[in-house]
Amino acid sequence: MKFGGTSVGKPERMHQVSQLITRDAEPTIVVLSALSGTTNALVEISNSLAQGDRTGAKQKIDKLEAHYRAFVLDLLKEEHTRAKANAVITEHFEFLNIILRISFSEALNKDILAQGELMSTKLFSTYLEEKGIDHMLLPALEFMSVDSNEEPQLGSIKIKLSQLLQQNSDKKLFITQGYICRNAKGEVDNLKRGGSDYTASLVAAAINASVCEIWTDIDGMHNNDPRVVEKTNAIKQLSFDEAAELAYFGAKILHPTCIWPAQLENVPVKLLNTMQPDAAGTVIMKEAGTVGVKAVAAKDGIIAIKIKSSRMLLAYGFLRKVFEVFEKYHTSIDMITTSEVAVSVTIDSDTSLKQIVKELEPFGTVDVEKDQSIVSIVGNEIAQTDHVLQRLFTAISEVPVTMVSYGGSPHNISLLVPSAHKTRMLQLLNSGLFGL
Ligand code: ASP
Ligand code: MG
Repeated sequence: MKFGGTSVGKPERMHQVSQLITRDAEPTIVVLSALSGTTNALVEISNSLAQGDRTGAKQKIDKLEAHYRAFVLDLLKEEHTRAKANAVITEHFEFLNIILRISFSEALNKDILAQGELMSTKLFSTYLEEKGIDHMLLPALEFMSVDSNEEPQLGSIKIKLSQLLQQNSDKKLFITQGYICRNAKGEVDNLKRGGSDYTASLVAAAINASVCEIWTDIDGMHNNDPRVVEKTNAIKQLSFDEAAELAYFGAKILHPTCIWPAQLENVPVKLLNTMQPDAAGTVIMKEAGTVGVKAVAAKDGIIAIKIKSSRMLLAYGFLRKVFEVFEKYHTSIDMITTSEVAVSVTIDSDTSLKQIVKELEPFGTVDVEKDQSIVSIVGNEIAQTDHVLQRLFTAISEVPVTMVSYGGSPHNISLLVPSAHKTRMLQLLNSGLFGL
């Protein structure tokens, strides 16, 4: 069970988490994020230090410490648990105060960023102690690791974690830190921002859990963007492949890269809402459940690049040369469509746009269209599902479409539209495909 920053960000929310993790008798590993706002604050402290602004860093450290002192006062009622929690706060803020005096490095930055999860888990553990809830704190730094390419080492995580669990086989409830890990050099490192979901998925895969529950404050993945359309529904069930298609759109409730370990070990991932614990939420598993369209999602800030060349006609190797330019500038291509004499691609970063266009120009005429949005229709076997294409294009007939990508996978149809039309497009799809 993983709980994010907002789920542990207030004393009363920690209380709620303690109830959720003791609802049944099944042995459970609980993965916690830092209290909401903490990692951002630590990033700022680190940035101040990197710029040599010790006064600024000190002010931020003091402000954060005051927040934790107040939190402890509110969270804990008994003298000895308060003293224990305050000792934890003292220890971690002493560390932050010491780093003010040493020279900044990347390794130190990682150490700073790790403080949030270390504190949240220790505070929560003290809270459980006060409530008399038997549990054990599992230090993530003892089993969670990444290799020299920053890829998690699932094999080693499995071995180390099962050893730890075996040594403590009398326990049923374990608390551990999300996000933090050790790198190939043995230093403290992390799984990148939002990485606690990744921790949860890795832990679930490592122990072959019956389920990996991601608890947030939304009731699952929705069929459309609630900020754009009036009515949306939580999706009941998604396959791992469908979820992967949606992940690109920054379906905020699930960290995009976190799904593969669970998929590898076939552990269902449930997205649940702390505020409505009995709502079904969304389950992501091997089977897609139903056939048909499940969700539409959009991503803004897309740039379309069209390369037109008569030399492409009947030529081979043309696409490779085009793609090599993007590879050279570490720019990933998202959508592709081709005709006999042209190829259009989309990218979502303009960092190297100038250089890319310059290097593409020898191949033909290059057109760039900015301010585009990808709108994807995701579902199970949608390509084969009755009349989806017909319903889709009927629904959106008033919207100009820049590109269409269909057939790349049976789970996805992607359209590129000028961003100015995105809202309308999502609304039309909501009624045309979901009847909402
Ligand atoms: N605390 C980390 C962050 O804010 C990890 C997480 O919350 O998933 O990015
Ligand atoms: Mg988070």
